[in-house]
Amino acid sequence: MTSLSNAAVRDIETVIHPYTNLDAFRGTGPMIIERGEGIHVWDADGRKYIEGLAGLWCTSLGYNEPELIEAATEQLRQLPFTHVFGGKSHERAAELAEKLKAIVPHKASKILFCGSGSEANDQQVKLVWYYNNARGQTKRKKIISRQRAYHGVTVASASLTGLLPNHRDFDLPLSFARHTDCPHYYRYAEPGETEDEFTTRLAQNLEKMIIEEDPETVAAFIAEPIMGAGGVIIPPEGYFQKIQAVLDKYGIYFIADEVICGFARTGNMFGSQTFGIKPDSISVAKALSSAYVPIAAVTIGEDMYQAMLDESKKIGTFGHGFTYTAHPVAAAVAAKTLEIYDKRNIVGHVRSVAPKFEARVARLAEHPLVGHARAKGLIGAIELVAEKTSKRSFDPAAGIGAAVVKAAEKHGLIVRALGGDIVAFCPPLIVKDADIDDIFDRAEHALDDVEATVTKESLR
Ligand code: PMP
Repeated sequence: MTSLSNAAVRDIETVIHPYTNLDAFRGTGPMIIERGEGIHVWDADGRKYIEGLAGLWCTSLGYNEPELIEAATEQLRQLPFTHVFGGKSHERAAELAEKLKAIVPHKASKILFCGSGSEANDQQVKLVWYYNNARGQTKRKKIISRQRAYHGVTVASASLTGLLPNHRDFDLPLSFARHTDCPHYYRYAEPGETEDEFTTRLAQNLEKMIIEEDPETVAAFIAEPIMGAGGVIIPPEGYFQKIQAVLDKYGIYFIADEVICGFARTGNMFGSQTFGIKPDSISVAKALSSAYVPIAAVTIGEDMYQAMLDESKKIGTFGHGFTYTAHPVAAAVAAKTLEIYDKRNIVGHVRSVAPKFEARVARLAEHPLVGHARAKGLIGAIELVAEKTSKRSFDPAAGIGAAVVKAAEKHGLIVRALGGDIVAFCPPLIVKDADIDDIFDRAEHALDDVEATVTKESLR
């Protein structure tokens, strides 16, 4: 075993790391990242990496955007904190809300800010319940999500998440949550089923679930346009149209979780636009501030706002809010982020580099370890398999996805392994064509390295 640095030991003895095997971590210690510039970060030993996952799908403008640093510094000097409770406010709150309202993919009346994607989806649950109580639909409490969805880790958001590690041992999901099918055609299509037949079956299953639950008890449906942490799952053409038709038939509220897809990631400002979703509300976080400071939000339509006003007349105070709701420093950075997206035409930029990104991801499908490669805009993934024709997975205990991630790090590329030996790519949106080539040249080297260690036997 290599000896651990003092910094590593200090970390091991003091910090609980999310999404980490805490036992194995005591042996390996952390990779300590020290600084960043553009699309690159440097570790504590001075090694340079391309951040191929933009941190956690979030540092869209890279690591040293001077205008964001300036916006934060200026706000810290002027007023580092004030709150928005009980009628108090600050100018950054309305400035950011106005900018968001102008670009979101539905007619939003108001914005309710919070601190993270999990909090945003938690607010969605509470708002839907509050709205339905306010308009007398007190039985409508259930929220339908999907298997393999990722909506966060607070108690309500984790209930909407459809991944076992987020439920097991946490006594989740809570009883309001239901999970319908995941639209991963590569994995879940029946033999011989076309994409069209697959999406029709999924919509029929959703309708069956709604009927069995009793439509009068179903409040909302929540979906990521592209499922991120569940495996970068890009729905087949027409999927959301069929799903939305079922929801409309039963008057079910549609929440689009735009926490990853929002702000140009898929080649439109929002994933809802890329996939033809007509949401009633969206959740945003991550790239809202290019991840420089924590801030997130949900949009509120006019109907919901009117119902909230009526409820206020009846019961008084709207009893929800965080100390850091619309935090002024976060709001200033987010407002500047949205200004930059606009003035630098970030959507246009993503569209100009996406063909190269999509082509380089597609090329990875030729690699012997890769069963499926998929990409849209600047998000993509490869699914590693032991056998291409049967799509047989590797034994999860072999940790092939993790091995590719480790090998990529040796080649100076940070990417992320998701469950099912899926390796995700989601670089900062500022990548240029040459950076994309660089990312995928390194990824190909990493795959070759791992292939060389995998015996022919296990590949069969
Ligand atoms: N929704 C989606 C789609 C996400 O990808 C994430 C985070 N990866 C969340 C919600 C939760 O966000 P946070 O980690 O900021 O709580």
